[in-house]
Amino acid sequence: MIWFNGRVTDSVPLSPFAHGLNYSLGVFDTARAYLTPKGTAFFRLDDHLARLAQSAKFMGLKLPYPEREIRQAAFSLLEKTKSKQGYLRMNAFLAEEELRIFPSNRTVSLALTFQKINYTGKSFGQGLRCTLSTWRKPSDRIFPPGVKCSANYLPSYLALDEARKKGFDEAMMLDERGYLAEASAQNLFFVKGGRLVTPKGTLLQGITRDSVLKLAEKTGMRVVQKKVKPRDLFLSEEAFLTGTATEIMPVVQVDSIKFPVGPIAEKMQSEFRKVTRLEHPFSEKWMDFP
Ligand code: PMP
Repeated sequence: MIWFNGRVTDSVPLSPFAHGLNYSLGVFDTARAYLTPKGTAFFRLDDHLARLAQSAKFMGLKLPYPEREIRQAAFSLLEKTKSKQGYLRMNAFLAEEELRIFPSNRTVSLALTFQKINYTGKSFGQGLRCTLSTWRKPSDRIFPPGVKCSANYLPSYLALDEARKKGFDEAMMLDERGYLAEASAQNLFFVKGGRLVTPKGTLLQGITRDSVLKLAEKTGMRVVQKKVKPRDLFLSEEAFLTGTATEIMPVVQVDSIKFPVGPIAEKMQSEFRKVTRLEHPFSEKWMDFP
């Protein structure tokens, strides 16, 4: 079932001449729905909607509906699909036919879909085996990493292709200057000397990353955002990735270096779970109901 431009339908026809297909001019965002004791709620849906609007604005695209209506559409799709939990995807793209890079018609189509997925295919206890990618994250001057435009994901695709061919689950990507950035579509954290460290710079400042920083601070942990090199990660005590689909996922290996599924990842996962079960002081602020 697809919510497409205001109607719920089973399929959406897409022309091979659609601009969005040919030049990847489309932005998207995702949000995860959790079943709570008070019914289904999205985790920080309003923040995801705000980011979708920001991405669209950056690309010069006008969303066809205001954020408040997209929010309503998300909840109505949830109801129609009889879903209790899962993964909402919001795609705003140029479905109109036009084969030139700068289109004369920038009418934006909006599609919302709801799926049950396990993004990594691995459980928390298994963790992820990562490799340092030879592909780099594009710098701000090539394409701002904070814009969730489809085209921005091609380096991540190449990095994952390389990682999978080498037998790893995930790719850890550096920026052009050799500082650690993030994984293909997850932010990185590691623990060093009892402090929680996360890279800053060329990366999407994820909503889960922001949540983990705030949850860690609330538990009294020392957190630091700074530029880091791969050696800082290699010398760390534990590492994990964060993302909407991934939540908190331990990194158990980076190339030949092994890490345990550590106590801080476990603590952060359990704090995150408390939020989604409405058992945390942040639940009220972060769990969005209709
Ligand atoms: N980095 C990139 C490039 C991503 O696409 C995502 C997924 N949105 C993340 C990090 C994690 O962000 P979030 O926690 O907001 O899902």
